[in-house]
Amino acid sequence: MSAPDRGRWLAPLLVCHECGLAQVQGALAGPGLVLCRRCGAVLRRIAPGSVRRAVHLNLAALVLFAIANLHPFLAFGFEGRGQTVVLASGVARLWREGMPLLATIVLAASLLFPLAKMLATLWALGPFLLRSRLPGQARALRLADALRAWAMLDVFLLAVIVAWVKLVDLAAVEPGIGLWTFLGALILATAADATLDHHDLWHRLGPQATLARLDPGAGRLVGCPACGQAAAVPNGRSEGRCRRCGSRLHPPRRQAIARAWALLVAAVAFYFPANLLPVMTVTSLGRGEPSTILGGVALLVEHRMYPVAAVVFTASVLVPLFKFLALGLLLVTTQRRVGWRRRERAVLYRLVEFVGRWSMVDVFVVALLVALVDMGALATIEAGMGITAFASTVILTMLASASFDPRLIWDRT
Ligand SMILES: [Zn+2]
Ligand SMILES: [Zn+2]
Repeated sequence: MSAPDRGRWLAPLLVCHECGLAQVQGALAGPGLVLCRRCGAVLRRIAPGSVRRAVHLNLAALVLFAIANLHPFLAFGFEGRGQTVVLASGVARLWREGMPLLATIVLAASLLFPLAKMLATLWALGPFLLRSRLPGQARALRLADALRAWAMLDVFLLAVIVAWVKLVDLAAVEPGIGLWTFLGALILATAADATLDHHDLWHRLGPQATLARLDPGAGRLVGCPACGQAAAVPNGRSEGRCRRCGSRLHPPRRQAIARAWALLVAAVAFYFPANLLPVMTVTSLGRGEPSTILGGVALLVEHRMYPVAAVVFTASVLVPLFKFLALGLLLVTTQRRVGWRRRERAVLYRLVEFVGRWSMVDVFVVALLVALVDMGALATIEAGMGITAFASTVILTMLASASFDPRLIWDRT
């Protein structure tokens, strides 16, 4: 066997999580990205020392996040009266107002999921620094990865900025220690995520398959959706299990299209009440006025707050519409097995996955305003049913795009 052949035989076998193409990783030049040859998805981020760095960054983020939750986040002064809120105040008030579903969504996305993600990452990575192993490391890493889209510290921070600008006309708003430490936690956790070499991490938990290790006659080659391991699903069986992380493995299934359609249709159905019902009611000195999403944008334009109006309009109106159209297009074209512009459709799918969560910004804005402006007869903001409907739309579209299997774009069978 010649040297290049031998290298190919022993190099890690990567299976693209987006298009399903199995490919041997070429010789590495140094830090950088390994992209899929066919669809351009990132297969690997090579970053030496990333595990150690991720542990340190996540530890620091965890400490800052704990401080952020215990200290005042924002202080709000109106007509001589002041009020401070901690992160969880909005949740508590939404709950008291009889909106448990919305309270739970905000609590999960802004507090529980980010916290669980940091703890799971530390559980999975920490032992490597101490050269030991803990039970459940693979499961913890899978959990941390699964929570990535749902831990919305970044979206929450954008909501803080929007809420702040909305209130600035009305009253004095002061940032507290909670807000600054929250910002720090967000930056550190994002940096940890952005530089982590997942492939290296999984490889430490169980070696990546190579052509030399795989039996070519064992069945259809499938990539693990969670850890990226290449494994064979035996011929005649519809699914297998990943030996490294325990995830279910299966070739692309056309049945998934029906589920994605159902979720998308439900999301569109919620979009109507989300836009027609008031999202909040501002009552000041006895006079109350309910406002819808578009009404809120119009009010921002009236007050010449153009950048914030643009942010809210994009996140709450344009992004949901874009997601409906893009997912609809992806579903119709895969259902009809159209070979048209596969690579562009793969990029479209990536875009839908990326922007999906940012629509939650208006939901967090309402939660923050409700918590901040709670001064009885002087001024109150109450959440309306429209915002629950809107949160449902956002979550359903996120679930729809998560249940769409992008490998179907490339599947010719
Ligand atoms: Zn690919
Ligand atoms: Zn796996």
